[in-house]
Amino acid sequence: MAAKNPHRPFTPDPEFLEALPDVKGNDINGLGEAEVRRPRMVWWAPDPDQIVHAEAQRWFYQHETDDKRLMAERAKRREVLERPVPDVAETAVGRAPEDWTAALSQFVESGDCEMTGVTRMRPEWVYQHHETDYETVIMLGVQHDYDELKSAPDVVCGTEVTRQYVRAASAAKVVAGWLREQGWDAQPVTGPMVGEILMIPPALECGFGELGKHGSLINKEFGSAFRLGAVLTNAPFATTPKREFGVDEFCQNCRVCEDACPPFAITPEKHTVRGAEKWYVDFDKCIPFFAETSGCAICIAVCPWSRPGVGLNLAAKLARRAESRADA
Ligand code: SF4
Ligand code: SF4
Repeated sequence: MAAKNPHRPFTPDPEFLEALPDVKGNDINGLGEAEVRRPRMVWWAPDPDQIVHAEAQRWFYQHETDDKRLMAERAKRREVLERPVPDVAETAVGRAPEDWTAALSQFVESGDCEMTGVTRMRPEWVYQHHETDYETVIMLGVQHDYDELKSAPDVVCGTEVTRQYVRAASAAKVVAGWLREQGWDAQPVTGPMVGEILMIPPALECGFGELGKHGSLINKEFGSAFRLGAVLTNAPFATTPKREFGVDEFCQNCRVCEDACPPFAITPEKHTVRGAEKWYVDFDKCIPFFAETSGCAICIAVCPWSRPGVGLNLAAKLARRAESRADA
């Protein structure tokens, strides 16, 4: 039997409910839509007035804990975002596609990030309010400190999440700068504020992992304990392969995040969203608890794959099981 959820029953703050628009976030996200279409911004708008959830997004920032360490990380993020990127050098350095992709490992070695991957841009990843001529997406992953993440929904976790967004933004700027200095145009994409593209779909394509029932990525080594940054470019990188290791089936039989989610935003079945059948978190159920706790993150913290040392063993066990099924 699942342990009692300490955050249930959850009753949303009436003031936050008052700040929500009449339009459902799930409708903006395309829940139930069979046609593929480009995404629309629902939350994390760089300028809240760009979205119908403007008042609710402002409420999030007005009501968060006035924690010194959290505020210090926010200040660092602003500083990183304001950091200029170098001009694009006049002469473009030539390299074989595989060599460009291999060269990305220097940013893992230097500690700027823990993962890199490359995939080709797809139109359905680009937000409706943006256009892009970039054909390649470089994905970057930065790992969470699990001990801090597991305090979710405490502000210690919120601070750690912000800290990793700072690292992801900084890594995206460093990689974009590296390319620009070699004569290739490149643009950093930094979270959590919405940029040009969705980040989870290209991260799935470039091999960072699979989508979990909690709507976040699951990586073999880091579970869901990581954040994303990206760089858009036309430099001729080779792509990295998509990787599947049994998460989808594992999630069918696990309900840890469903049981842990205070407002029951995680469901046991997949949904159709903008033409794709996939795991989807109910935005309208999630957002009140998310806003009242400055970012929640319970679902990624409780996911068994996020616990250090668990993912690789779990993936090996699933691979053995798949092999013995194939042999039978
Ligand atoms: S972030 Fe949202 S979906 Fe995840 S546990 Fe919190 S309320 Fe639930
Ligand atoms: S907690 Fe379980 S069901 Fe939820 S995403 Fe992780 S593995 Fe999947």
